[in-house]
Amino acid sequence: MTSELLAKRWAGVMMDSYGTPPLALASGQGVRVTDVEGNSYLDFVAGIAVSALGHAHPAIVSAVSNQVATLAHTSNLLIHEPGIRLAERLQSLVGDPSARVFFTNDGAEANECAIKLSRLYGRSVDPTGGRLRLVATGNGFHGRTMGALSITGNPAKREPFEPLPGPVTFVEYGDVPALRAAVDETVAALFLEPTQGEGGVVPAPQGYLRAAREICDAAGALLVVDEVQSGIGRTGQWFASIAAGVVPDILTLAKGLAGGLPMGACIGFGKAGELFTPGAHGSTFGGNPVCCAAALAVLDTIEADGLLENVRRCGAVLEAGLRGLDSPLIRQVRGSGLWYGVALTSACAPAIERAARERGLLVNPVRPDVLRLAPPLIVTEPEIDEALRALRAAFETVHTEQAAALT
Ligand code: PLP
Repeated sequence: MTSELLAKRWAGVMMDSYGTPPLALASGQGVRVTDVEGNSYLDFVAGIAVSALGHAHPAIVSAVSNQVATLAHTSNLLIHEPGIRLAERLQSLVGDPSARVFFTNDGAEANECAIKLSRLYGRSVDPTGGRLRLVATGNGFHGRTMGALSITGNPAKREPFEPLPGPVTFVEYGDVPALRAAVDETVAALFLEPTQGEGGVVPAPQGYLRAAREICDAAGALLVVDEVQSGIGRTGQWFASIAAGVVPDILTLAKGLAGGLPMGACIGFGKAGELFTPGAHGSTFGGNPVCCAAALAVLDTIEADGLLENVRRCGAVLEAGLRGLDSPLIRQVRGSGLWYGVALTSACAPAIERAARERGLLVNPVRPDVLRLAPPLIVTEPEIDEALRALRAAFETVHTEQAAALT
């Protein structure tokens, strides 16, 4: 079996929404994955910031195996304890007993839930429909379903599917005066990410989240913080917003939450957690016991193994190493925790990705001119050193190729 052969079969049966990926994986262990030809790679993508505990972590293997052998599915017509335990755990982690949880299967669904809550909130404040507008940020990303897409600030992704639900107003990310001008009494909710992940790992300027909180309070609008990518330890904190002193009205999560099983959550605080009444929203699989068991294993392991501290310590090593690469192809290194964007001077991210892969390192060209690194939270300093060596060589190769192409 080869990646090339599987790529041919893939192209013969799959819709082309992803393009054909370059590599077929067979297995993973810790921070390493192995392709179908037996080559090993350090995985600094982690399934797009998902595999928080790396691959085949014994805590997840055991929790999922036990749960699937005990009770795999109930639907939401019946209660199961893993779901309650996980919601209790999240309520305690966000530090607010008013928090109420709706479980979903992914990040887009968590945001759909937040959009529906925003609608209900707007209607509850103004039954004539004068408060239904959403405000979101340019370059922001919230998912591919029609609602989540409607607040995604990337016209190329949105336009082919218009008309989308609305009204939605986009403001430039990080621009506080623009936020103040846009969020008025016609606005039900403001949606933003603490750091724009798909936008190229762009952190909010200092004070931006606090300003957003104040502006929403003044206008009577909900603040929805999308922590689908930033949440559950990625930045070295459980939640980037709460660590910055900002408690949103609605917090959305997914990605790292269940360490690789499909799971998301929409958490409403105070009145925002009380808007759904029976029949208002639902999901057959959302909050499935197996995914809840996996998520509990993730949260337990992050706590028991001190992984937030590991993210901060290893993140500092990774950041220093990226800055130390000192390649003429690098324009900026930005990010926090174990989550970095390396902004490049040209659209050479795909070339760097390929050169790194050829040296046994997986990274993600999140944009043509930005490389994203998001290794598992369990990564060690020797693994980071190894990744940095491969990355340095990849940058040197691509730089040499570019120089040769110019002569
Ligand atoms: N929100 C953010 C901030 C994301 O980064 C993503 C995915 O990258 C989503 C929402 C959508 O999540 P999903 O792909 O699980 O639907």
